[in-house]
Amino acid sequence: MTDTRVAIVTGGGSGIGLAIAERLASDGNDVAVFDLDGATAKAAADKIVASGRSALGLTVDVTDRARIDAAVVEVREQLGRPTILVNSAGLDGFDPFLKITAEKWNRIIAVNLTGTFDCCQAVVPDMIAEQWGRIVNISSSSAQSGQPIMTHYVASKAGVIGFTKALALELGPKGITVNTIPPGFIDTPMLRGSEKKGLLGEGVEHHASLTPVRRVGRPEDIAAACSFLVRDEASYITGQVIGVNGGRNT
Ligand code: NAP
Repeated sequence: MTDTRVAIVTGGGSGIGLAIAERLASDGNDVAVFDLDGATAKAAADKIVASGRSALGLTVDVTDRARIDAAVVEVREQLGRPTILVNSAGLDGFDPFLKITAEKWNRIIAVNLTGTFDCCQAVVPDMIAEQWGRIVNISSSSAQSGQPIMTHYVASKAGVIGFTKALALELGPKGITVNTIPPGFIDTPMLRGSEKKGLLGEGVEHHASLTPVRRVGRPEDIAAACSFLVRDEASYITGQVIGVNGGRNT
């Protein structure tokens, strides 16, 4: 159990973000779920409310700074000052390097990297006011290993790792930690979507058989690591890249 805090989870309507939102609520936090798909955000929040915590599900496109700022005001008014932020909203992309259009490159950078920047900038003033904060950015193991036909995605996620390290140094003196979890091969709609498009070779189960722990990751695996990083007792962990990947990247 943690003290009750107010958490914002972007991309919290699906996959990893949804598992994190549910886990932070079961740990005793109130949770605001931000997602491009407002219906899934609201469904996630309704489930949390039914479990006995306060929650809010909001339609938020993380590429829209004005909307992020308005949503943070709503969170502050309805739940209290947010002091936990998990950036899980993300967009993947599979394109040979020479086929990546400027539009596609810009969109992936906008969602994965600039979206993370904007959400942090919108929420950090509340953390500074409380002299306590926890930021967890969901990056990707592909930024550790590289990945063909994903230069745009990998660049965006490598950017998130560098951003996390730099922000941690700046916010450490203010009681705010900033860490990143690069997931590897987690069973979510994003992963299954790639499998359906034939982008994962022989498929998820084949890759699982080659993974050191011999299974595909679950969203709950990421949520467990995130749950630890946002606790009081994790105050000496900042600027770190905490891989959760079944041993696929070491
Ligand atoms: P997911 O199930 O597709 O969840 C991503 C969520 O982000 C979706 O609800 C999506 O909404 C939302 N989203 C997309 N663009 C957004 C935007 N502009 N503003 C707000 N929300 C937006 O995928 P996931 O696998 O859980 O991915 C979560 C994070 O983990 C992502 O950052 C991803 O890059 C990262 N990751 C995942 C894996 C993996 O193996 N699954 C591996 C490495 C990294 P819509 O569905 O409406 O688009």
